Amino acid sequence: MNLIVLEDRDFINPTQVQLTGRRHTHLTTVLNVQAGMRLYVGKLNGYQGLAEVESVDATSVVLNIGSLDQPPPATLPVTLILGLPRPKMLQRTLQTIATMGVEKLCLIQTARVEKSFWQTPLLRPDAVHEQLLLGLEQGKATQLPQVEYHTRFRPFIEDVLPARCHNFRRLIAHPGEYSPPRVDAAAPTLLAVGPEGGFVDKEVRQFEALGFLPVQLGQRILRVETAIPVLLAKLF
Ligand code: SAM
Repeated sequence: MNLIVLEDRDFINPTQVQLTGRRHTHLTTVLNVQAGMRLYVGKLNGYQGLAEVESVDATSVVLNIGSLDQPPPATLPVTLILGLPRPKMLQRTLQTIATMGVEKLCLIQTARVEKSFWQTPLLRPDAVHEQLLLGLEQGKATQLPQVEYHTRFRPFIEDVLPARCHNFRRLIAHPGEYSPPRVDAAAPTLLAVGPEGGFVDKEVRQFEALGFLPVQLGQRILRVETAIPVLLAKLF
């Protein structure tokens, strides 16, 4: 935990927060915090700064919040369109995209996504929120990625996506005889990444029809959780 992300519900008065549960456990067992210690904190979707530990007991840590006047690191101007991965991979992926500063994630159904994956409790809003927070804490950032769920491919590709394409660089990561991704750190980008089984040819053609350019990362096929940070690093 490189930064403690504070939410409105953490505040017990305008200048103090009370942290319990996972954060209490981490602060007391990993960081071994004591009264008077200073920690780096940030308000969810807001600014960052230092806080001082006021008190520590068996269930909570109380922090005095100083002035939060430092901006978080810039986000990446990217919407990631991702074939829903299996639940375990989903958790790691949510953390990674929050750590790296992805602004928006569209989880989509594709031909090679098992429909049962949509039933996982790990997709419940509180579970997704928790993984994104872990990613923000890791990345010392506060901007929560937006997450959308598109459980049917056809309405997404035919009705939703076309209206979002204008003025966006559009890329689909797909193994094959394509160009590698090119860096353009300022370009608002729509980036499609397949599920663990990849995109089927028809899906690639449908993205291409919307102006998505296929890009490849070399002969080695990467796991989704590896492909995403590699793509983001190469693009931005
Ligand atoms: N067998 C699948 C295929 O050939 O498409 C592998 C899918 S891979 C595990 C999951 C996704 O990561 C792919 O759909 C693609 O978006 C991205 N990916 C992984 N390795 C890649 C590579 N070498 N080039 C381009 N995209 C890659």
